[in-house]
Amino acid sequence: MGDSNTKSYYTAETLVYLNGEFVHATEAKIDLYSQSLHYGYAVFEGIRSYRTVSGDTRIFKELEHFERLKRSALALNMPYPFETEQLIEATYVILERNNLQDAYIRPLVYAPANMSFMPNNDSSVVIQVWKMEPFLGEKLLKVMTSSFERPNPKGFKIEAKATGHYVNSILASQEAKAKGFDEALLNDMNGYVAEGPGANIFFEKDGILVTPPAGNILPGITRATVIEICNELNIPVEERLFKTEELKQADAAFFCGTAAEVIGWESIDGQTFNKSWNDATGKWIQDAYRARVTEAKTGLSNMLKEYEERKMMKI
Ligand code: PMP
Repeated sequence: MGDSNTKSYYTAETLVYLNGEFVHATEAKIDLYSQSLHYGYAVFEGIRSYRTVSGDTRIFKELEHFERLKRSALALNMPYPFETEQLIEATYVILERNNLQDAYIRPLVYAPANMSFMPNNDSSVVIQVWKMEPFLGEKLLKVMTSSFERPNPKGFKIEAKATGHYVNSILASQEAKAKGFDEALLNDMNGYVAEGPGANIFFEKDGILVTPPAGNILPGITRATVIEICNELNIPVEERLFKTEELKQADAAFFCGTAAEVIGWESIDGQTFNKSWNDATGKWIQDAYRARVTEAKTGLSNMLKEYEERKMMKI
């Protein structure tokens, strides 16, 4: 993750939800013989909650996230003896008991002790919450094309958020940082742009936003929200394959994801974009995303009016 590895995710007071109970993070245990730990065979979610403009705590798109958690587990043949409603309720409880409103929420479903590759009769679930700043920071990003490709969909259930896939993300992200960049961009096995290690990509060209289609990516919940916002703001969006060469001719580009939110790029492989971020459509989407997660509804409708006016004036 973007936050430094010296950061503490919990204190002696922190509570986590573990298999139906609320327990202290310092006392919760996992089985060292878990198949998940040895083989990267677990599934997880990354969710955020926000303090809304009315002061309430709201988990953003909680149903979509917990339903994806279930789909991820079933895609990997993991038993899923959990109820979405119960997990959402438990998440609200640990947010409150840990005194958190703006939080990052990490549910993880993992396997029991099993050193074989055979299926299990049971799964465990843990939900952890902590405070996390936007995980790629808030400055425009210098992005590099990775030497690593995303996992081949013929070798992995890539639409599942499985822990093992993130070895690929770690390798790509570490390579980018070691070379002086902020983040990596990975191609798919056919050489088309796929996604970042933990975020989806959009670019803007001549007023149209373009993003890779589902198939070789994790089709993110934030990506879906960006498309919804585009539909509301009448911004045309295309889901289609493209290569880095096309991206280098773009007017602007951004990453989006639950942890990263919406974050603009400064450059790709050292090449900057035609528009400054403040003039890019992505900036509008970034503002609209913030309005949406904090439920600032008037913010969004004002923005829509202002955006239409700017378009008419061709600013
Ligand atoms: N792609 C990858 C590889 C990711 O890890 C994430 C983060 N979950 C995303 C895309 C964005 O997904 P979401 O918007 O659902 O967080």
